[in-house]
Amino acid sequence: MKYVSTRGQAAPVDFVEACLTGLAPDGGLYVPEAWPQITPADPNESYVQVATRILKAFAGDSLTEADIAGLCERAYASFSHHSVAPVMQSGPNAYVMELHHGPTLAFKDVAMQFIGQLYDLVLSRRGERMSVVCATSGDTGGAAAAAFAGAEHVDLYILHPHERVSPVQRLFMTTTGASNVYNLAIDGDFDDCQAIVKTMFADSVFASEVQLSGVNSINWARIAAQSVYYATTQAAIGPDRPIRFVVPSGNMGDAFAGYVAARCGLLAGFELVCAVNENKTLATLLADGEMKREQAVPTPSPAMDISVPSNFERLFFEVAGRDGDTVRRTYDQYQQSGSATLPEQVRGPLGCTGLSAVMIDNQGTLQEMQTFLDETGALICPHTAVGSSAVRGLPETEATTVVLSTAHAAKFPETVKEATGLDAPLPLRSESLIERGEVFERVSNDLGAVKDYVRSNMVAEA
Ligand SMILES: *Cc1c(COP(=O)(O)O)cnc(C)c1O
Repeated sequence: MKYVSTRGQAAPVDFVEACLTGLAPDGGLYVPEAWPQITPADPNESYVQVATRILKAFAGDSLTEADIAGLCERAYASFSHHSVAPVMQSGPNAYVMELHHGPTLAFKDVAMQFIGQLYDLVLSRRGERMSVVCATSGDTGGAAAAAFAGAEHVDLYILHPHERVSPVQRLFMTTTGASNVYNLAIDGDFDDCQAIVKTMFADSVFASEVQLSGVNSINWARIAAQSVYYATTQAAIGPDRPIRFVVPSGNMGDAFAGYVAARCGLLAGFELVCAVNENKTLATLLADGEMKREQAVPTPSPAMDISVPSNFERLFFEVAGRDGDTVRRTYDQYQQSGSATLPEQVRGPLGCTGLSAVMIDNQGTLQEMQTFLDETGALICPHTAVGSSAVRGLPETEATTVVLSTAHAAKFPETVKEATGLDAPLPLRSESLIERGEVFERVSNDLGAVKDYVRSNMVAEA
């Protein structure tokens, strides 16, 4: 199984290489050269068994089945729920898929725990060490910290905007106590952090000097690992039941994983609704084919405050008939002018992918948190609420509705309080967070300062 770039100019690589590299050298994203056809999950299979089968299909010959089984076993042992991604009934023919049972209470753990194990295995075999750098507005940093803490072959650098992430989110990043996890609190906003990381990757000399690697949502391993819970949910709901998945979306990695599951034959009937907040570029893209650079605005669902969703590029590549030139030209134009229109010939196919998008505004999000509480007695996080609210406006369907719950309510206690007046206590297993000491370093919003920081750690360890 080879992976090709969505911009058509990078050499094909295997699964392991695609996952260690992240972004392809031509600036594109890796996708499998063809969609493997995989036997759907059986209700009697465990999550680890299904994950092993699916990830083996994506890994091809780059890893053995025994390797992958070991990775999955270790990755998912860190989840507090035996089913990893259990589905709970929330109404007649309506369910919530709970993706927040991982160590940092957000769905990013599902992929990141696998990635942590994958890097450790591959790098220890190669006798190499890598510097993983990630910019975070909250959840990715914590998930990466939990996945890489104590890893022998990885140094993790997390850049978060100083005093702009929620206290609980910050605690998950800064309290690992691990000597290979470095938290940099940047005097700037999330876009500044992301710009620094992007520039570091574009500097090939620096990138090879420190063996730079990235695990943000363009990394193929994240998509591959996330396709698993769509398959296990199909098995749990009933192997032949058509499902309408409603996915709170930001960079669209989660939603694209659902599309992948469908393409690989893992789903019975497929409809996928991306629920977005007031940062609604994705909705505009799917409806009008317009892509426009805009400043992301802060909302109650910060993990979805994204202007242009990075994983849209993979969908674009598919509907463009896998023509990398078309994708590259459109993104070049976007890069230069800050806006681009999708070519006419992809608009038709885009309407036939089974994907659509719905926008929920800030007030609707807060209201939904209260309404869901009234109907079920359960608290949901603001991201999940965007999905749950989107369901209410959709046309009637015979399909079973499944909303993806992307984080635990306790990760956003301030918003829960505002919406419902209630406290959202941390689950028992996370309570000790509050007592652990935080370690982070304030660094100025300056590329040179961050590079020096990374270099000096390399030297200290050598
Ligand atoms: C990252 C995140 C999302 C958005 O996921 P994408 O894959 O970027 O679309 C939604 N909810 C929560 C809680 C998240 O952490």
